[in-house]
Amino acid sequence: MLGLMQDWPLLCHRIIDHAALNHGERPVISRSIEGPIHITKFSAIRARALRVAQRLERDGVKRGDRVATLAWNTWRHLESWYGILGIGAVYHTVNPRLFTDQIAWIINHAEDRMIMTDVTFLPILEKIAGHTPTVERTIVFCDGAHLPKTTLRNAVAYEDWIAEVDGDFSWKSFDENTAAGMCYTSGTTGNPKGVLYSHRSNVLHAMAALRPDMVGLSMSDIAMPVVPLFHANGWALGFAGPMAGASLVLPGQKLDGASIYDLLTQFKVTCTAAVPTVWLALLQHLEKTGGKLTHLRRVVIGGSACPRAMISTFQDVYGVEVIHAWGMTEMSPLGTTCTLKPEYAELKGEALLDVQQKQGHAPFGVEMKITDDAGQRMPWDGKTFGRLKVRGPAVARAYFKDDGQILDDEGFFDTGDVGTIDRYGYLNITDRSKDVIKSGGEWISSIELENLAVGHPKVAEAAVIGVRHPRWGERPLLIVVPKEGQAASKDELLGFLGGKVAKWWVPDDVVFVAEIPHTATGKIQKTALREQFKTYALPTAVAARGP
Ligand code: ADP
Repeated sequence: MLGLMQDWPLLCHRIIDHAALNHGERPVISRSIEGPIHITKFSAIRARALRVAQRLERDGVKRGDRVATLAWNTWRHLESWYGILGIGAVYHTVNPRLFTDQIAWIINHAEDRMIMTDVTFLPILEKIAGHTPTVERTIVFCDGAHLPKTTLRNAVAYEDWIAEVDGDFSWKSFDENTAAGMCYTSGTTGNPKGVLYSHRSNVLHAMAALRPDMVGLSMSDIAMPVVPLFHANGWALGFAGPMAGASLVLPGQKLDGASIYDLLTQFKVTCTAAVPTVWLALLQHLEKTGGKLTHLRRVVIGGSACPRAMISTFQDVYGVEVIHAWGMTEMSPLGTTCTLKPEYAELKGEALLDVQQKQGHAPFGVEMKITDDAGQRMPWDGKTFGRLKVRGPAVARAYFKDDGQILDDEGFFDTGDVGTIDRYGYLNITDRSKDVIKSGGEWISSIELENLAVGHPKVAEAAVIGVRHPRWGERPLLIVVPKEGQAASKDELLGFLGGKVAKWWVPDDVVFVAEIPHTATGKIQKTALREQFKTYALPTAVAARGP
């Protein structure tokens, strides 16, 4: 017997309908690529998204067609997401920080028919235009006056393009399992892989993200997604924000400490989200200028492990609660958030930080397990490491145009991360499986060492990698970017770590560098570091080898 409730497919455009109808006046503020601040509201975003939909249809874009966006977070980018998916086409976010040939590869693999982009990225697109045959037209997020001369085929200014239709248009309706969006994983090993979100997965995921124990947005929030829409589905904020009726502040192109601080204060942002490197820059700016975070209540930090020192600085110095989050492109992307369950609510000081440094617990809709290499479940005791596997309605079951089986017998996806889960369900990622340092058959967590190292007052950024060792197989090497004007010594840093981890975890050497390489999503690029230090001779290795 079926239930007798209405068939109301979970379609993403219903989110912007809801926002326009119930929170239509709520401001959406952007730092435009042209420079000035631009202010609009949800009702206008919806009206213009309908024009995008109508105009795409006039250009012959049909259900299932891919439309790429290569753009910063602005109101135009947000409108086009809804416009694209509102006719059953698929927004495909492309990360402009990737290498140019990777961008071309991804566009070709997705067979994008159109590209919507910022003026900033025209040089990239011009360079690859001869190698992206499926692309019929480029729509540039600007008005006619700001459209530079370009060699791109059928290039048009977005404002002129949407002005050619009247917006008298209705969204299309279709099955909620229809594809809505697409995002490629960064492909640090091998080619990038396309993750294809459905309307249903995006809607359910946004609802999960809104729970008070996850990101917890409400209509009284002023939320600033610093995380770009092109990074892992924009961490769900392009949907969760309008669903909650939260006001949005979209930072455009300028993501440096001073620019972010300017928006946080000028627009009284209450909640924001980004990877640790962004917050490192903000905290350095605050330290230098003596700035305060008066309105900010919560900062969501994820994408890579949030250093302990960052959590305590935000909370103890600036009074801002840190929500450490873990996820991945394949998970839409939120997997866990570290908010406090009643079991931990009374913790203070270091004990509280011990918990907050973990990646947190899963919401309804994310099931986790940790297993050994043979696939046997491991206990949730907070100590036993295992391969982390997940399943749920917003977790990928396959990659785009790829027949490979990515789920185990129980339907779980292997995240490639290694971690522990404690008895209250708090996940602690110890490493990516390929980054963990294997020393004499035992595992050393590079993440834990990095976190501790950045807690040293003279360290700006730190990375730990495994370097070949004749006796132990691999031993940790600590790579450090000192804070401006500071000189730390090797002994000072190793001594600092010494009391905090098991003796055999202490790195064998320290190198000081001016810069650590980052991936296109702002994470430490371990592959590049491993390549750079491939032949590094650890002093202990030399000793072990003998004269
Ligand atoms: P990209 O590598 O392109 O940024 P993802 O965002 O999908 O792609 O990366 C997901 C991976 O990032 C996770 O599998 C995990 O290894 C790492 N990660 C994300 N959040 C955290 C976190 N809070 N702590 C540790 N690692 C994290």
